[in-house]
Amino acid sequence: MKNQKTIALVAHDNRKIDLAEWVEWNLDVLDDHKIICTGTTGALIEEIFNRKSDNLKSKSRKIVTKLKSGPLGGDQQLGAMIAEGEIDIFIFLWDPMEPQPHDVDVKALLRISALYNIPTACNRSTADFLISSELFKQDYNPQLKDYSKYVNRKIDLNYKS
Ligand code: PGA
Repeated sequence: MKNQKTIALVAHDNRKIDLAEWVEWNLDVLDDHKIICTGTTGALIEEIFNRKSDNLKSKSRKIVTKLKSGPLGGDQQLGAMIAEGEIDIFIFLWDPMEPQPHDVDVKALLRISALYNIPTACNRSTADFLISSELFKQDYNPQLKDYSKYVNRKIDLNYKS
C-alpha cells in the first residue's frame, strides 16, 4: 500500500448523507488519494469535490471512478478489485436497519474485504479512526494469510462416468 492510496467509498441510501458529511469534513486529505465508488455514491462524492474546486475557481476537478450502482453489480465489481489487490482502504456505510435487494452482494463484499485484510470501516467513527491513523500516511502492507495449501489441494478425479 503506497502513500497515495486507493480508497473505496460506498454508502447505502440511508447512509449517503453520513458519508457525504464525512467526505466534506475530510475533503483535503481525501483529495490526495484515488477514490473509487459504486455508481450513485460516486456521483454524490464527485459533486462534493467539484463544489469545492468551483468555489476555489480551480480548474482541476476530482475524478472519482464510478463503478455500476451497487445493486446492479457495483458491489461485485468492487469485490473483484479487492481480490485483484487494487483497493487499499474501504469505507462502507451499509444500512443496518433495512434489508437490501442485494444483501448477498453486501455479504460477499464484506467477506472479500475481510479475506484480503483490507482496512474497512462500516461506520463513521471507525472511518474517523482510519483516516486519522498514523498508518494512513505511510506505506503499509497488510499481512495476507497463506492460502497456498488450499490453492494446491488435490482434487480426486476418480468419479464414475
Ligand atoms: P450505490 O450503491 O452507490 O450505487 O447507491 C451502493 C450499494 O448499495 O452498494
